[in-house]
Amino acid sequence: MIDIQNNFDPDLRKIIKTKKQVAIIPVGSLEQHGPHLPVSTDSDIVTEIAKRVAKKCNLLLLPTITYGISFEHAPFFNLSVTRTTLQNQLVDICISLGENKIRKIIILNGHHGNQKALSGIADKISKTSRDRNKVFVISYWQYMKREFDHAGFVETSLMLAVSNKVKMDLARKGLVVEKMPPKQKSKISKLASIHFIKATKTGVWGDPTKATKKDGKMILSEIVHNIAKKVSKLPY
Ligand SMILES: [Zn+2]
Repeated sequence: MIDIQNNFDPDLRKIIKTKKQVAIIPVGSLEQHGPHLPVSTDSDIVTEIAKRVAKKCNLLLLPTITYGISFEHAPFFNLSVTRTTLQNQLVDICISLGENKIRKIIILNGHHGNQKALSGIADKISKTSRDRNKVFVISYWQYMKREFDHAGFVETSLMLAVSNKVKMDLARKGLVVEKMPPKQKSKISKLASIHFIKATKTGVWGDPTKATKKDGKMILSEIVHNIAKKVSKLPY
């Protein structure tokens, strides 16, 4: 793995010259995660996953984009950029990578609200670079068996595994959808994607009270294993 932030120009140019590099860009967000997790949660988790995948697959690790699209969390705290801003930033970074002869790029997404902005980005970058840059978008929660939540058991466990910022004494049960009839569950999921606080009241989707570092470590290694497998099979 080459962590681009901690490297120097002569070394980087040499590295790029000797071997074709694949870059990974983690994309997170800054938004409320209840009283027990910091607003940096999505960015913290996606950064750690990207680091581990980069180590396993020998990738070039780029700094995390910590500003995402979290308007759905208003009126609770969120710092958001518009869809166009996130897209433009990623297009610019990928074009710049291409100019440095780094043409294969993985965008690793850590926040659900970013998904729409990222859905057409690979085609956009391919067109802008006249087909020379190849971009693959991966949303990490699609690489684990458990259903994802927001500040619930899964995300709180993951945070316990990657950070020391969790305040477990403040963790409270939020909206639990497991036993809901499918129709009601899909209705509330839809509402949550537009008005998260209206849907959950507390800003917590799931129950974080039983989250553990041990579970977080297990889920994390499952995600990293599955993403590394996917990355190794990407058509380069
Ligand atoms: Zn989150």
